[in-house]
Amino acid sequence: RSKDQGGGVINSYEPTLHDQARERREIEIELRSALGRDEFMVHYQPVVHSDGRVDGFEALLRWNSKKLGPVSPVKFIPVAEDTRLIGPIGEWVLQTACHEAARWPSNTKVAVNVSAEQLSSPGFVASVMKALAHSGIAPNRLELEVTESVFLREVSGAMATLDQVRALGVKLVLDDFGTGYSSLGYLRMGQFSTIKVDRSFVQGALKGARESIAIVRAVVALADSLEMSTTAEGVENQEEADAIVALGCKKLQGYHFGRPMSAEDAFAIFDGGARRIAVGG
Ligand code: C2E
Ligand code: MG
Ligand code: MG
Ligand code: MG
Repeated sequence: RSKDQGGGVINSYEPTLHDQARERREIEIELRSALGRDEFMVHYQPVVHSDGRVDGFEALLRWNSKKLGPVSPVKFIPVAEDTRLIGPIGEWVLQTACHEAARWPSNTKVAVNVSAEQLSSPGFVASVMKALAHSGIAPNRLELEVTESVFLREVSGAMATLDQVRALGVKLVLDDFGTGYSSLGYLRMGQFSTIKVDRSFVQGALKGARESIAIVRAVVALADSLEMSTTAEGVENQEEADAIVALGCKKLQGYHFGRPMSAEDAFAIFDGGARRIAVGG
């Protein structure tokens, strides 16, 4: 931040703590009525195999607030988590995404992001069962993406909830791997079906950053030995795709294969029986 210029005027575009607190408050107020006002949408981003075959879609929540305009999940999800609004909002995403997935070819997966806060709510397992029953999708088509933060909430029973959900046949995915602070010792055999390698390592690997390459290699080796699959996030071009496949990642996701898109556009990928995404080059 640039320094105070004598007259008390702070010449800076960086939001002050006060601005940030006000923004959070505005988000919180609007978020409380967003579900009721039907301001949410789920977008779907393809996850593909290295040959372009669609493995499934990740459901990504979008909020177009009447008052605030479009707000990024990076901003509103933390507010939803802090205020417990994530419960009803996450429940809506789960039901909506499973309902949508029922229209896709029968082996296509749907991945739903779940916050650690949702896992400590007693109704969570029941809401997963409801989403499966109402949509009719096979449990192994549903993937729940959690981050390493679940390991830090052991007290509130997050891991026990994940065990119950897995017993239903639902798959668990460890998201943004490598960005958290947890110890590798938390990983147990059979717990997660897939590890998602964070975008920062994917992009670093392409730039030739030795640390990123080493980390991707290590994650792939770890996943292999624990019988898990790996997905690279944030693949933006063919060079990144080639580099990451060469390092052994099995599945890919990123703007190169498709941006998060409306349910209609995601459904249209299967037009004419297509099961793969054509990418340039
Ligand atoms: P995430 O689960 O790691 O999702 C991946 C994010 O990377 C998404 O951001 C996606 O749009 C973005 N992305 C995908 N491909 C690329 C690429 O090639 N380049 C770049 N630069 N970005 C790419 P998004 O949609 O803004 O979501 C941000 C985060 O918000 C998600 O990260 C997830 O943690 C959270 N989130 C989104 N929807 C939900 C939800 O329904 N529930 C919960 N609990 N969290 C959600
Ligand atoms: Mg995710
Ligand atoms: Mg992620
Ligand atoms: Mg991420």
